[in-house]
Amino acid sequence: MAWMSSGSSNASLIKNLASNGLITSERVKNAMLSVDRAHFCPTNPYTDSPQTIGYAATISAPHMHASAAESLLPYLHPTARILDIGSGSGYLTAVLAALVGPHGRVIGIDHIPGLVDLAAKNVCKSEQGREWLLSGRVRFVQGDGRLGWKEEEEEEEEGDGRDGGAGWDAIHVGAAAKEAHEVLVEQLRRPGRLFIPVGEGTQFIWVVDKGRDGGVKREKGMGVRYVPLTDAPGE
Ligand code: SAH
Repeated sequence: MAWMSSGSSNASLIKNLASNGLITSERVKNAMLSVDRAHFCPTNPYTDSPQTIGYAATISAPHMHASAAESLLPYLHPTARILDIGSGSGYLTAVLAALVGPHGRVIGIDHIPGLVDLAAKNVCKSEQGREWLLSGRVRFVQGDGRLGWKEEEEEEEEGDGRDGGAGWDAIHVGAAAKEAHEVLVEQLRRPGRLFIPVGEGTQFIWVVDKGRDGGVKREKGMGVRYVPLTDAPGE
């Protein structure tokens, strides 16, 4: 059913995803309309399926990007800090940047340096993307996403993630983990949400919510197929 949403332009792809019920939120629809998938996807950008982007990586299918953005939506407020692990092409990082406000911050992390550069190049293909990179609303860093990410100033920051401070309002993981890494849950703010595909072979989306009181709830969602979260090549 997913491939039925394919279109001949960015606008028709998004319209078809919406009419097939794969995008239900107007905010997500507008964010995906504002980021041209062709800037991130060298082949068949408007087909609703994953595509290769080099470095043995793929850009996920548009309906999966939509589903992740919709799941994280309640946490994407104007000043939110978001971490996109396995940022690959940079497409979802850009959509998440469209969803937070000008004072929000979205960090994309990938362990392949070539993909960190490619994602920034892709974002630079639009005027809005160049502004986001200049203002720091979007940034790409290299690292092992299984460890999450701490901004330099955070190393010093005190606090338990309540009402701002260190940590992430939402963490998206774009590759399948062996487990919902506890360190990622620790790095969530209160409240905060982690969206992570988990499993070897059979994989499921897990949504992990940290409440204002620090309590953690885990919910297993749909079955999916992602490339695995691995050691960096050559390690
Ligand atoms: N959200 C991306 C998905 C890219 S595919 C997109 O739609 O374009 C998954 C990505 O995870 C790849 O870019 C791969 O390099 C990255 N990856 C795999 N293991 C990783 C790890 N341990 N740390 C950081 N990135 C990782």
